[in-house]
Amino acid sequence: MAFLTEPEPERGANLPVLPGISRIVANNPGPMTYLGTNTYLIETPDGVAVLDPGPEGHPEHIEAILRHTGGQIAYILVSHTHHDHVGAVPALQEATGAPTVGFRVSGIDTFVPDIKLDHDAAFAGMQALHTPGHASDHLCFALTAKNGDKVLFSADHVMSWSTSIVSPPGGDMRDYFASLNLLLAREDDVYLPGHGPALREPRDLVRAMLTHRVIREQAIARKLTGGAFDTYTIMDALYSQLNPRLRKAAERNVLAHLLKMEIEGKASREGELWRAA
Ligand SMILES: [Zn+2]
Repeated sequence: MAFLTEPEPERGANLPVLPGISRIVANNPGPMTYLGTNTYLIETPDGVAVLDPGPEGHPEHIEAILRHTGGQIAYILVSHTHHDHVGAVPALQEATGAPTVGFRVSGIDTFVPDIKLDHDAAFAGMQALHTPGHASDHLCFALTAKNGDKVLFSADHVMSWSTSIVSPPGGDMRDYFASLNLLLAREDDVYLPGHGPALREPRDLVRAMLTHRVIREQAIARKLTGGAFDTYTIMDALYSQLNPRLRKAAERNVLAHLLKMEIEGKASREGELWRAA
């Protein structure tokens, strides 16, 4: 797949993205987060919305958000409730009093949005799209930028630097396929992901991601013709060159495929072991 890279961003800087849209990259780089979580500042008809305040425990990131907005924030948008996106919400809300906005059913007990959005809701000049798969409460936000670009904030559903982890039970592979197909039916010019740089002509990568998952599922099905295996053994057979730090994530993806295949009558399990159905 044709993934993108970018140089390490200037920490604490407000980086221009498109007219009316900028980002501050949190200093939480890692094997799952690339150079860090993108916090977007979005000019809306109601004022500046902050999309994904970032991880907990990075006060310098909150200070950067406050510095670049003057503390005047209309909304705190949450794409999904993974800790690297939502962890800083309480601190930012305490500092600004801005209402939080997210999917109507939160994926975690510790976050309930003040403003609850459903699929296809219009909000602050944007359209919310419920896109479960990576997370059950995942929202993408669509808007037309001032230069005419059709923009989709794709968060962790589609990222420019890597595939996404689908880890049950919050992650669901059937939902993930459906949400990729939902994006393919749209005509966005550019995706702005939760990690990594902007992605132009984004549907080429979405198609490649779908193909990648289909091939992965076929490989799992082939492995199951040889007997009954646990998820680790299947992962180990499929991902030979993998960075050791990503093996747990890869095993979660394999489990997500197997649960999809179970529902579709292609795999069955007995205890820890999976076999062809
Ligand atoms: Zn995530």
